[in-house]
Amino acid sequence: MHISSMIPANARARAQANVADYSAECAQFSWEAAFRRLAFLPSGGINMGYEAIDRHVLEGRGDEVALRWLGGDGSRLEFTYRDFEARTNQVANALQKLGVESGDHVYTLLGRVPALYFMVLGALKAGAVVTPLFSSFGPEPVLTRLNRGKAKALLTSRRLYDRTVASIRERATDLEHVLITDDICGSEGLLQFDHLVEPSDTRFSIAPTDPEHPALLHFTSGTTGVPKGALHVHAAICAHRETARVALDLKPDDVFWCTADPGWVTGTSYGILAPMALGATVLVTEAEFDTTEWYRTLERERVTVWYTAPTAIRRLMRSGASEAQRFDLSALRFIASVGEPLNPEAVTWGVEAFGIPIHDNWWQTETGGIMIANLAACDVFPGSMGRPLPGITAAVLRRREDGEIARTGGEVEQISDPDEEGELALRAGWPSMFRSYVDNQERYDKCFRDDWYLTGDIVRRDRNGYYWFVARGDDVIKTSGHLVGPFEVESALLEHPAVAEAAVIGIPDPIAGNVVKAFVSLRDGYDPSDSMRQDLMAFARHRLGAVIAPRSIEFSNDIPKTRSGKVLRRLLRARTLGLPEGDLSTLEVSHP
Ligand code: AMP
Repeated sequence: MHISSMIPANARARAQANVADYSAECAQFSWEAAFRRLAFLPSGGINMGYEAIDRHVLEGRGDEVALRWLGGDGSRLEFTYRDFEARTNQVANALQKLGVESGDHVYTLLGRVPALYFMVLGALKAGAVVTPLFSSFGPEPVLTRLNRGKAKALLTSRRLYDRTVASIRERATDLEHVLITDDICGSEGLLQFDHLVEPSDTRFSIAPTDPEHPALLHFTSGTTGVPKGALHVHAAICAHRETARVALDLKPDDVFWCTADPGWVTGTSYGILAPMALGATVLVTEAEFDTTEWYRTLERERVTVWYTAPTAIRRLMRSGASEAQRFDLSALRFIASVGEPLNPEAVTWGVEAFGIPIHDNWWQTETGGIMIANLAACDVFPGSMGRPLPGITAAVLRRREDGEIARTGGEVEQISDPDEEGELALRAGWPSMFRSYVDNQERYDKCFRDDWYLTGDIVRRDRNGYYWFVARGDDVIKTSGHLVGPFEVESALLEHPAVAEAAVIGIPDPIAGNVVKAFVSLRDGYDPSDSMRQDLMAFARHRLGAVIAPRSIEFSNDIPKTRSGKVLRRLLRARTLGLPEGDLSTLEVSHP
């Protein structure tokens, strides 16, 4: 891709930005100094809950609004930092009373309701490891993740319990407590959240927390095997805070709207922790995407900084810039996007619709925070993800034919040619870097070469030091910003009695980036038909949930495989999309 245009940062952004001079900030930035900007527990150590809430109360900002919640039914609630302190202390006390100990794993499976936010931060104060799961997941993905992280307690709603949890609860081997946000009738071994929390003490003394104590477990999908659980530690809050300050230009008096659900890493790191660590007001909407409603929300709530995703922007674009111009969005001073490639047209459309470009940035579950970004005070090259943040060293590493990183004289080979593509790597050592994949040391070790963390993404870096996304280096599918592992979908389809083989790939889609498509060959005695397709779709949706399930299914008796029987998804994708097929030397002999 070539640079077609450049959008210079406007004078207001340059004058007001937290970081006015990128090079100067890079030169003077140090993580040691960033750590000194944290409050630290009076008893010692770093606790995310304390940095996100209690410090603001102690520093005299207890009456500022921490969370403004817009319910799906039109209700509107505000909670100050002081309210949050009391409520999360009650949650921490209630969890301890239940027997949840430091290091135990606490999950949520909820829509964006206040209880989720209280639980996440309260559990962090209690020293528990927190995993918010996406509420649209079906029973199978939920079970896999509960067991993988040895979930001890789960907070969910009555509806989600009945729909998703009840059928798998017996198989969730470590799950001792299920807490429900609504009223419960009958026992079924369920606990009512408010009944448990409300009588608890509003004071809680956070135990000294080692900065390396596990805090968050986020699941991410790989090409093979079950989803990987990336573990993050309390020290990560330092990176959340700094990256939001630098990459999102966030300040304490901002009204910040991150549209991501906390079931995905963005919704936790930037939908909860980063803005609260900076003392901003977090806006949370319970409802799902709706063009007019979103513009109305930006206008009515006077949102100043907005962090969203390419799929949402492309959906807004369908109604044209004129739709945005009908609203008074004068409070909005910065817009950022993450999760998938942001096409250049979307960036320039931002200028037309909002008077400011949309600033793309890049990161992933494993990095825990934004790594590469377009900053408010810097020129934007539409289509580029921007430059590494201060404190982050990035490189493009040369890959050999077999995918391994090339070396010369023992060192990994860095690419400096602006036209050459290679694998994006980051020098290990920033505070929000994941510390392990739970129970998978081998997979974790594979991510590193010397002190470089390999991201798995193929990129190039231009003469100005800006990074451009080229492709993912694996078969994982990004659909509407969500990472879907083909193996998880194939495994679910294979459980259907009619399915002999299944292969899952991503197919380009103008709005969602990619959509999940499955190729299925049927066992003898079963015939391909529309009703069989419907049956398989329903089966997959029921097991996996709408986000992960395939959008389309094609019957095929010619799923390409290696000689060892591994599905060659890349070749299947090339054939489906009419792309070059590449090296076929390992292809199974019976196929063309
Ligand atoms: P996740 O771990 O679910 O956050 O997904 C991370 C992956 O999303 C990255 O490795 C990229 O493949 C993709 N991604 C994230 N941000 C961007 C971006 N700005 N441009 C292109 N791809 C992105």
